[in-house]
Amino acid sequence: MGEIPGARAELDRLGRVLRTQVVALIEQLTPGADLMLLFLSEPTVSEWSEPAKYRYSTTFRGQRPESVGAADTVRRGAAMLADAGWEVSESREVNRTLVTGYRDGSTIELRVPDHTPTVLYSASSPALVLSTPQADEQPDPSRTSDTVTAGYVLCYECDGLGVCPECGGRGWLPDAAAGQRKCPECAGERVCPICRGAGQLAVSQLQPFQRGYYPELRSE
Ligand SMILES: [Zn+2]
Ligand SMILES: [Zn+2]
Repeated sequence: MGEIPGARAELDRLGRVLRTQVVALIEQLTPGADLMLLFLSEPTVSEWSEPAKYRYSTTFRGQRPESVGAADTVRRGAAMLADAGWEVSESREVNRTLVTGYRDGSTIELRVPDHTPTVLYSASSPALVLSTPQADEQPDPSRTSDTVTAGYVLCYECDGLGVCPECGGRGWLPDAAAGQRKCPECAGERVCPICRGAGQLAVSQLQPFQRGYYPELRSE
């Protein structure tokens, strides 16, 4: 797996722009908020694709001063974003206003409730791929039709690969909520659960239902 030249630097640049803008909003709209709690200094995995995608993203909450109403907070937040070159839209959610700013693939959202002084910020950069895909992630198959042992057939489950065909031998699958989850087919053991990694099965030991996967055996 190789790093894509410049990709991390570009992501870091987008992260810095995002952070600068979010800090400016927080300082103006909810002064006194503890910026130590703004976690926006490292990108995280946003998508467990192969290769994974990374982005800067965070949420933050602050309190608007009692002297400034919700409508004023919405107006000032939208104006700050627009002045800084963000494309701004406003919409209504239940009992609050959502201000959204877009720029260079980044998104900043402000949620301003009508009746409580909390202001919710969320911000995310675009998700970037930082490295090239692993070269030929699949290992060589244990067996192919050319190398299958006499008296054996290629495993019907993995086609001779030997590794678990569900997870490709990783032992885990991408998961939207948790990032990764253990592969249910191999229970994380990475090998094909049918042939246990051999890639082939002895014809003499096939069970009747397994013979059904091999039409060519029926004539024997
Ligand atoms: Zn598996
Ligand atoms: Zn197998």
